[in-house]
Amino acid sequence: MISYPEAQKKVIRHARCLPAVIIPLQESAGCVIASDVCSPINLPCFDNSAMDGYALNAADTVHSSAKDPARLKICGSIRAGSPKRKILRRGKAFRIMTGAPIPAGSDAMIEKENALVRNNVLIVSEPVRKGRNIRYCGEEISKGSRIDLRETLVTPGVIGFLSGLGVEKIRIYKKPRFSIVATGDEIISGGRKLGRGQIYDSNTPMLLAALDAQSITPGYVRRIADRKKSLKKALSRAIRQSDVVILTGGVSVGDFDHVKEVFKELGVKSIFWKVLQKPGRPVFFGKKDRVLVFGLPGNPASVHACFYQYVYPAIRRMMGHQSAFLPEEKMILKREIRPDREKTLFLKASLERLFGAPRCVALGYQGSHMLSSLCRSQGFIVVPPGNKTLTKNQKVQFQHLPEAAR
Ligand code: AMP
Ligand code: MG
Repeated sequence: MISYPEAQKKVIRHARCLPAVIIPLQESAGCVIASDVCSPINLPCFDNSAMDGYALNAADTVHSSAKDPARLKICGSIRAGSPKRKILRRGKAFRIMTGAPIPAGSDAMIEKENALVRNNVLIVSEPVRKGRNIRYCGEEISKGSRIDLRETLVTPGVIGFLSGLGVEKIRIYKKPRFSIVATGDEIISGGRKLGRGQIYDSNTPMLLAALDAQSITPGYVRRIADRKKSLKKALSRAIRQSDVVILTGGVSVGDFDHVKEVFKELGVKSIFWKVLQKPGRPVFFGKKDRVLVFGLPGNPASVHACFYQYVYPAIRRMMGHQSAFLPEEKMILKREIRPDREKTLFLKASLERLFGAPRCVALGYQGSHMLSSLCRSQGFIVVPPGNKTLTKNQKVQFQHLPEAAR
């Protein structure tokens, strides 16, 4: 049996960044950009007004004062989107709206809130600085320039920015194709009445949600009874059409735990089985050609912990993210914890930030069959094996769950 750090290392070693592909920008949220973007246009793409107000020529106001203000006749209005090319003559002004093109001959504008207008004449009682409230063509990005976006995460902001440049496609590292196979004679989907001995499937919906948060939609999702034949069929298909297969249940040593045997028959090479950890000890990790295969013990809290300790880093690596693991932080412990002599513990924990430094506390109901504590959990306290009690106020390793409230 191997240790948790060894197991993580093995996963990382086998999870390689996938090749780059070009996809529609709108579908790229959560992906990592694989190459520079060459700007097809200037940004802004023309000189335009930053405010609603009056466009003028600053030279007309150099001598203006309260006593002797410049009087500029307003000779029209320019709206955003106006295709007409307007020319401002000396001694005149235009009403202009935010985002409207600055007319030729104008080099400044006064915002409406600070403008004095009498009888369609703009009265300016101090010199206006050239360039005031003008958003210049190309001031942010110039046409043809290379924007270094390599290794940048596509966020809503990135999508907004690139859309503003008219970019519609983007080169990103591929998202892994996933399959989820949940095993167990006893598990049924929600919406059906429970029969004797049956339980509702927690794992499939939880994994779908965890993958969705990484912008991944599995291509193949199956719930399978503990029958060798159907399991083999489902797994064979899952492996054929995926980069990563997550299977839950049946990896333990029960009489009907056929998974390991089936993996073997399908040519899945075992990289590890069983890790000195709790929950999730019987976790399996293997590979068939380039396909990563995770066999997670069926208990839902084991699935949850194993997903974030092993599958999540693999996904992050495959998608080209800079950091693979859950973000970690040293955090003060609110209540003492007794470690396990041999196993690393992943304790569902919450954070308290009410007074002073934040503190973490292990929640109740840590059993591997229990999930209720996840409703209040922000992450894991990772307790390395040992025999020394972790005391109150001691600093411990806290891992933030990516989808938890902060
Ligand atoms: P196994 O790993 O198949 O021995 O399952 C371990 C425990 O997890 C058993 O109590 C199963 O009933 C339970 N379990 C397995 N799969 C699921 C699932 N998809 N949702 C909820 N519990 C499950
Ligand atoms: Mg089972």
